[in-house]
Amino acid sequence: MNLVFLGPPGAGKGTQAKRLSQERGFVHISTGDILRDAVSRGTPLGKKAKEYIDSGELVPDDLMIALIEEVLPEGRGVIFDGFPRTIPQADALDRLLEGKRQEIRWAILFDLDDEELIERLTGRRTCPSCGEVYHMTFKPPKKDEICDKCGSALIQRDDDREEVVKRRLEVYRRQTSPLIDYYDSKNKLIRLDAGRSIDEVYTDLLRFVDEEGH
Ligand code: ADP
Ligand code: AMP
Repeated sequence: MNLVFLGPPGAGKGTQAKRLSQERGFVHISTGDILRDAVSRGTPLGKKAKEYIDSGELVPDDLMIALIEEVLPEGRGVIFDGFPRTIPQADALDRLLEGKRQEIRWAILFDLDDEELIERLTGRRTCPSCGEVYHMTFKPPKKDEICDKCGSALIQRDDDREEVVKRRLEVYRRQTSPLIDYYDSKNKLIRLDAGRSIDEVYTDLLRFVDEEGH
């Protein structure tokens, strides 16, 4: 079963996708994580993507569609986290999966208001070594600014600064939110109240996935 995790930046998609993929065997594809890794390694993709990411804009569709084609695994359920973000990306993903006799089964919309999104994004801290994600208030590391898992110093993503966060939310409203109707019109949209605790959201998600089977 392939799932799209849809919703604004900071709604908790990555947090839930990591846990669900570990516990239920999905492949977790986060295009944001892949791009950040490409930027830090200085690959050709990373060089092309850096300015867009830093300014809160979307990386162009042709680059993103080529990337997803490259990383799509054979024969395993995938959680697409942060992809698609535009209608052309969603169309391309449908065609790509169709070619493999697969489909997106559900798009799960993580619903949260802007005030809480800003609080979640500006308080987010990330481990640059292992990718673990924390929040200074809602999911603090045991030792100040140090990753519980690997001991590295945590960082704040450049695009989690307040000026860029506001731009990212505008970009989401304009370019990504039309995907809500896109999946709704195909009867594939599930709305999730993302404004609850990490555990409460996860329990809800797990119940849904287990009832659906995969
Ligand atoms: P996204 O992948 O949608 O951008 P993240 O999963 O990275 O969002 O979460 C954004 C921030 O909010 C992180 O700092 C994370 O620890 C925190 N967070 C995630 N889910 C919740 C929640 N249900 N309640 C409070 N904070 C959360
Ligand atoms: P994320 O980690 O999902 O918040 O993504 C961080 C940044 O990566 C975004 O602000 C975009 O610049 C870029 N990005 C990630 N996924 C996509 C996508 N599907 N399409 C275009 N840009 C993307």
